[in-house]
Order: sequence, then C-alpha cells, then structure tokens
Amino acid sequence: MELHEMTAWELAGYLHTGEVSAEQTVQASYDRIDAIEDKVRAFLTLTPEIAFEQARHIDDLRASGEQLPVTAGIPIAQKDLLCTDGIPTTCGSKILENFVPPYNATVIQRCRDAGMIMIGKTNMDEFAMGSSTENSAFQITGNPWDLDCVPGGSSGGSAAAVAAGEATTALGSDTGGSIRQPASLCGLVGIKPTYGRVSRYGLIAYASSLDQIGPLCKDVRDAALLMSVISGRDSMDATSADVPVPDFTGALHTDIKGLKGGIAHELLYGEGIDPAVRETIERAVEQLSSLGVEFEDVAMPHAEYSLPCYYIIAPAECSSNLARYDGVRYGHRTDEPTTDIYDLFAKSRAEAFGPEVRLRIIKGTYVLSAGYYDAYYLKALKVRTLIKSDFDKAFENYDFLICPTSPTVAFKIGEKADDPLAMKLADICTIPVNLAGIPALSVPCGFVDGLPVGMQLMGKPFSEDALLQVAYAYEQSTDWHTRRPSL
Ligand code: GLN
Repeated sequence: MELHEMTAWELAGYLHTGEVSAEQTVQASYDRIDAIEDKVRAFLTLTPEIAFEQARHIDDLRASGEQLPVTAGIPIAQKDLLCTDGIPTTCGSKILENFVPPYNATVIQRCRDAGMIMIGKTNMDEFAMGSSTENSAFQITGNPWDLDCVPGGSSGGSAAAVAAGEATTALGSDTGGSIRQPASLCGLVGIKPTYGRVSRYGLIAYASSLDQIGPLCKDVRDAALLMSVISGRDSMDATSADVPVPDFTGALHTDIKGLKGGIAHELLYGEGIDPAVRETIERAVEQLSSLGVEFEDVAMPHAEYSLPCYYIIAPAECSSNLARYDGVRYGHRTDEPTTDIYDLFAKSRAEAFGPEVRLRIIKGTYVLSAGYYDAYYLKALKVRTLIKSDFDKAFENYDFLICPTSPTVAFKIGEKADDPLAMKLADICTIPVNLAGIPALSVPCGFVDGLPVGMQLMGKPFSEDALLQVAYAYEQSTDWHTRRPSL
C-alpha cells in the first residue's frame, strides 16, 4: 500500500519504528496533490515550506531518541475557517481573502503540539453556509468518488482531501451537518462532538450556539485518535466544557452485545429519504443486530420542525456574528468613493459577501427585529427545546439512535444550485443533532450507484466514546472503510 492510502494508525506504526520518516509522509501528501489536485480542488492554500520544516524537526527529534506523541508526523488538512498564525484564513469568502490571523486556533495549536503536520487549508462554502462547496467564493471541490459530483459541505474540501489521499486526516466544522454530510458523501468517518467538547477559540463563527469542530478520517480508530488530540476544556473558550476526556482510542473494542439502539423513525422513514439509502441503513441495522444490538423504533415527533427552526436560529446568529466584517474592523474595504461611514460599510459588504451569506444576514436581521422577534426567533427557541426533549426522552431507553446521515448519496455539481430548498433538505437528518447539542458520527455503511452511504449514530451528551465503540464494532465486521476511490 502506498503512504497516501494509509490510515493515521498505519502511518504511525511505520513512523514509530523509523521505517518511514515524517518527511516521507509529507512528501507523499504533496506528490498526491501534484497528481490529482487540479481535478479535486480541495485546497485553498498549501503550506509545503512550513510542513517540510516541521517534518524534518520531528525526524530529528525521533533520531535523538525523544519520545514523541503517536500522531507525530501525521499529515492533516485544516478547514479554512480555523485561524492559522501567519497563514491566510479566508472562510471561503472574498471578504476575508487577505486575512492573515496573528494567532492559532486552539485546535490548530493542539494538532501541532501533537506533532501533526498541516498540509494546507481546505475549501468550504462561504462562512460554512452550504452543503456542497458550491457557495465557496473561490472554487468548487469535486467528490473523489465521482468528480462530477459534490463532496458535500460545508467542509467539502477537508472531506475530499482525505478521501483522495491528499491528507491522512482533516478537521472540519459542523453547524448543521457540515462534518457528517461530507463524510457520508465521501465515504469517511466524521464526528460532530457534543457542544462544548472541543474548544472553538480561533474558529471563525457562523452560528455560535450550534458550531462544533470535529474530525474527518478514513476509519473509526483514526477519528478516535483525532478526538483525543482536540478535545477538552480550554480557558480561551468559555463555552468549552470542563468534563473529563475519556481515552477514546483505548476504549475501542468490538463487544457491543446487549446495547439498545433506537431507530429514529421520522429520520429513516420520513419524506425525502432516498429508498436505496433507506435500504442500505436497514442492512446496517441488521448487521448491528447480528452483533447483539437490540433495536426498536423510536418516534421523534418534533424532528420535522428542525429545518425551519434551524433556518431561523442560524441566520439570526450569523447576522450578529458577521456584523464585524465592515471593511474597518475586519475584511475587504471598497475602493469606491463613499459618502459616509455607513456607505463605506454597505459598499464593502455588498462587494465581498456572496449571495447566500447576504440572504442569511437579511433573514437573520428580520427575525431578530423588534416586530418579529417573538413571532420567529423566540418561537424557534421554544421549538428547539421540544426537539431536544425528543432526544432526552429517547436516551432514557436507548444507548444510541440511528438514521441515515444524508437522505441521498452525492449529487451532481449544479444539480441543486437553483433549488435552495432541495439543497437545504440535504441536512434534514443532521440538523436536529446540532439543535440538541448532542454528539453524532457518520460511518460508511455501503454504496448506492457506486457512491458511498453513511449511517449516523447519535448519543447522549459527552458519549462520543460510546458512539465510537458502536461504529468500531460495525466497521470491524464490514469492509466499507477499506474501499478507496480510483481517481
Ligand atoms: N448546510 C447547512 C447550512 O447551510 C449546515 C452548514 C454547516 O453545518 N456549517 O447552514
């Protein structure tokens, strides 16, 4: 097997024994990028100079007998909304095209401290608003399984980079599905951790009550490894939770006998779920049953309100978070003549925000305005509580819930571009999880028409270890995770 095809664990083994150097792993990533990146278009910025320098430093340390973390020398791609000291961070937007942060996001620093080597920054929908990377101001990423299809979004660049072997692992962010849906569409494992599990210091905010950072990896074990690197309380982020971080990798074993699984009825049998995807999930349920999990149907009566609820709360929060990009405090400033400061704000913003971002700012401002706050925003907050209560009730009886991650496999580039509702329906199964603040992961469970399908496992707050456990047992009893796209 070639280096670029390996999982982080496989690479770590060779790095540890010295059979492979960090410099070789980095070289393998850039060789792969040279060969295929013009077709995949996963990266917005590549950082080879810094990467090779770090790799050589790690190799020197290892040669001198230093004990290094297991992740030392593993290539990682970082979504371009994670601040990187001295390296452009665009958030997929013209408004931040020239933004070079003076500091690292906590997750970037933690990966670096663990010896992981950043290969570059990945493409994304502008400000993480989208499900396909088609809202990026710079480029559209191709799905490595079929380059005419989208890789999902908004973390589509991160997903495509890992699926194509350009980086061994990646981080993304997930506000309504942006890690899990691209993981599903690209045949990867993706985790949206519990709200508060991972520090968001240095993450460019979209909707602050929903955003979480998490891993995109080739298999469950790699995802557990990356969770161990990034999780835990951070004094720089007041919303990061002071709860113990379990040993995610050490806890992996394949005995899941006697666990109780709930089939989230509305999210599997509801409208819009492709019948072939549904059948694939039903087979995964059978497989898990054969491993000893007992399943029952669970009603999620408020799930159907998730999408409208999300599309009030997320725009409301984004309208506030994006107010800072005015050409003075942050971001692009117009060169046009202006009459006063408000004219400067307006012209700068109109020139550099894309249409989806502008639409959401307008919607968010509307639902927060004095006359409509109670009717929309406050109502959505109440509905959010009801959605969360569906999960709370379910977790009284079940260890985890299951449904598809995405209602369909990857769709063609352009197919949903003119149909915003169809695009938003791509997140119908993932959005309830963010509204409830719970953890969920997507794990590959089959193919439809040659394209990957992912199943979503959802759990109680801070039960990522239990979800990884179920996913690991399933994965070890199947071979979906060993398939690689033939680019
Ligand atoms: N696709 C959803 C949206 O457009 C979710 C995006 C995300 O999770 N960042 O808002």
